[in-house]
Amino acid sequence: MKARLLARLAILTIAALPSAYAQTLVQGRDAAAQGSPDYDLLLKGGHVIDAKNSIDTVMDLAIKDGKVAAVGKDIPADTAVKAVTVTGMYVVPGLIDIHTHVYAGTGERHSYAGDLSVYPDGFTLRNGVTTIVDAGSSGWRNFPDFKDRIIDRSETRVLAMLNIVGSGMRGGKYENNLEDMQAEPTAAMALKYPGVIVGVKSAHFMGPEWTPYEQAVKAGTIAHIPVMIDFGGRRIERPLYQLLETVLRPGDIYTHALSGERGEQDFKTGGPGRGMREGRARGIYFDVGHGQASFAWFTAIPLYKAGFAPDSISTDLHIDSMNAGMKDLLNVGDKFLAMGMPLQEVVRDMTWNPAREILQTQLGNLSVGAIADVAVLSVQHGDFGFDDAYSTVVRSNQKMLCELTVKDGKVVYDLNAITGEPWDVPPGRADRLAKRWTKLRERGFGDSHWKPLPGQPLVKDWTPYPWTGADAPKP
Ligand SMILES: [Zn+2]
Repeated sequence: MKARLLARLAILTIAALPSAYAQTLVQGRDAAAQGSPDYDLLLKGGHVIDAKNSIDTVMDLAIKDGKVAAVGKDIPADTAVKAVTVTGMYVVPGLIDIHTHVYAGTGERHSYAGDLSVYPDGFTLRNGVTTIVDAGSSGWRNFPDFKDRIIDRSETRVLAMLNIVGSGMRGGKYENNLEDMQAEPTAAMALKYPGVIVGVKSAHFMGPEWTPYEQAVKAGTIAHIPVMIDFGGRRIERPLYQLLETVLRPGDIYTHALSGERGEQDFKTGGPGRGMREGRARGIYFDVGHGQASFAWFTAIPLYKAGFAPDSISTDLHIDSMNAGMKDLLNVGDKFLAMGMPLQEVVRDMTWNPAREILQTQLGNLSVGAIADVAVLSVQHGDFGFDDAYSTVVRSNQKMLCELTVKDGKVVYDLNAITGEPWDVPPGRADRLAKRWTKLRERGFGDSHWKPLPGQPLVKDWTPYPWTGADAPKP
């Protein structure tokens, strides 16, 4: 407040000086401003965790034109339009959740291509998540509708894995129809939208056949993208070790890895079963996909103690999981903190690792030039309980909280208004240039959210509250 007032006074003082001298000073000031890097947004004093670049220390992060412009010690605050102090918080790449269901809005009941899905933006940005992957809610037949309905209209970056079932995740009648599991049209659709369709999914299959997995791998091979497998009903005819040792390719993803439902756990040792060990050795990725029913403490803890941690942490967000044991991505990450996983590894498993799994390595890191998706997290200390799919609980003394989310270089969520200015301070440069660093003030500086239409008779009532007092700006 003082600084702004002083700046204003300085300008007033200059205006009172002989004009030629004043002009020189003003020109000098503008030139200095133009000569500076003039970042759009600067996050100062946070603890940066960036697995790709092996950064795990206090650093400033500067953003310009939607990209990371600089990461370094002590970047001066006045080089940015907006500088935000985030001391005591963690600055990490925008989180990536590679297992969600967001094909909402079709009106179809009891269907993940409908009412079982959620609209993404209400569940993502507030949790530091800037990118999600819809895991097979649509197939090649209805992907264009999903794209038009959700992908093209969401603030969240929504990517997709196509279901190997052409009709997508519309219920057992569709999802067990072997006739609709075709590699070629699935691959053709994926090739039409590179970078948006990032994988092929199989899920919920109850039959004894290997068809869905073989077709998914075939589609993934043609389109050069990974497959993600929810292994469906447990069948003696198709054991997990065979899927992970021979059917899947290195780089494919096994989700619901800690459900304990399909032989993930060796019941003699409590540790990982044969398929899990062999699969990891071959380069299969293991994803959490917590969901309503796919995370069990009685599996997760013994596997973790045996040295088997997942590669990526994800939610399997949908209407039946969102208010159950799974709350949101940070809550799932908290469970790994509770098991003793270091914060740096938890963050890696929600950023750089999932980016690598879906072959989108332009995301999930804070390299200079990278897309400026950023989450600012704090770690709360207290007494917290975390439940699994069976309502058994593990208590922990820490949990993560999303303080600020930046997507494509602009603030999209700000829990405690750390980017705000006091209400009684006159707008400054950062307010005038708000479009450069925030999406939270789309309407621009200085206007009320409400304005009378031309000719509307309330104009005389629409005057701002008069600001008086010693520190009021002079007219
Ligand atoms: Zn799922």
